[in-house]
Amino acid sequence: MKELASCYPELSVDECIQYGNEALELSIQVNDIQSESEIFLLLAKLYNQNKNHERSSYFYSKFITLKDSLFYLEFEHEQQQIRKQIFLRNSFMIAFLVLLNIAFFIYIRYRSQAKVHDKLENTHEQLKEIARTDPLTELSNRRDIIEKIEYEQIRFERNKNPFVIIIGDLDFFKSINDRYGHDCGDYVLKKVAQILRTTIRKQDIVSRWGGEEFLLLLPETPLEGGKVAAEKVRKKIENSNLKYNNDPLSITITLGVSVYDNVMEIDDCIKKADQALYRGKHKGRNCVVAVRPEDIIIG
Ligand code: GH3
Ligand code: MG
Ligand code: MG
Repeated sequence: MKELASCYPELSVDECIQYGNEALELSIQVNDIQSESEIFLLLAKLYNQNKNHERSSYFYSKFITLKDSLFYLEFEHEQQQIRKQIFLRNSFMIAFLVLLNIAFFIYIRYRSQAKVHDKLENTHEQLKEIARTDPLTELSNRRDIIEKIEYEQIRFERNKNPFVIIIGDLDFFKSINDRYGHDCGDYVLKKVAQILRTTIRKQDIVSRWGGEEFLLLLPETPLEGGKVAAEKVRKKIENSNLKYNNDPLSITITLGVSVYDNVMEIDDCIKKADQALYRGKHKGRNCVVAVRPEDIIIG
């Protein structure tokens, strides 16, 4: 419309007012508020030119009102954008914090589950250890040593390396209990276990076979080697000079030795060591007796 008045100077003010009113109607129809406000201002100027001050001030006030509401709409729009941005930022922050919490929760759960798992595994291992250990002497128990002998039997089938079984039984142990009491008997059993453990080689295994009986497993050892080891043990115990409440104790042990150098039942090999042991008891105790697989008992 501005252009209309300046570009067509041949138009009269009245004609401009007429076109202005038509343009106003059009912009009202299409709801073009921006154009509407500009036309109000133009009409105000045109009426002013025409000296129609009443109409001029009418359109001018219309222009001011519309401009105010335009400004308000723009302000509202801006505010809405800002609110949208704040909302988006807050939503992002909340989502981030929620995710962080979830990750933290998962981590804590994983950690505590891993801890419980470790504890269970430890307890399981401890229980397994307890199930294989004699509580008094802390040596392998009967069940554990049998498993280990079975393992040696399997190894023998592969490499034909013989292994030795020694059964030792403390001499007149009952009289130790009777004379000094059961606690003294227990003390002696623990001390003997210690001596056995420290006398034989690292790869050999000592177990508590029964009350005052011990079974020793010597992997990769022939019968002769077994006899030497048994004799070493016998001497060590004989010379142990144990004392209980300042009373010197005389402890001796009789040992039976057998070898697994031929495929046979494990029970038979243990029985042979037992037979040799009882032969030693009959011979007078505190001695070593070895037996060959062919059942010939050697002194
Ligand atoms: P031998 O020379 O013929 O072997 O005589 P021994 O007295 O050692 O044999 P016997 O079998 O008559 O006695 C074994 C004793 O071992 C009987 C029991 O009081 C004792 N004994 C077995 N287990 C334990 C134990 O855990 N602690 C104690 N203190 N004594 C035990
Ligand atoms: Mg006995
Ligand atoms: Mg005995």
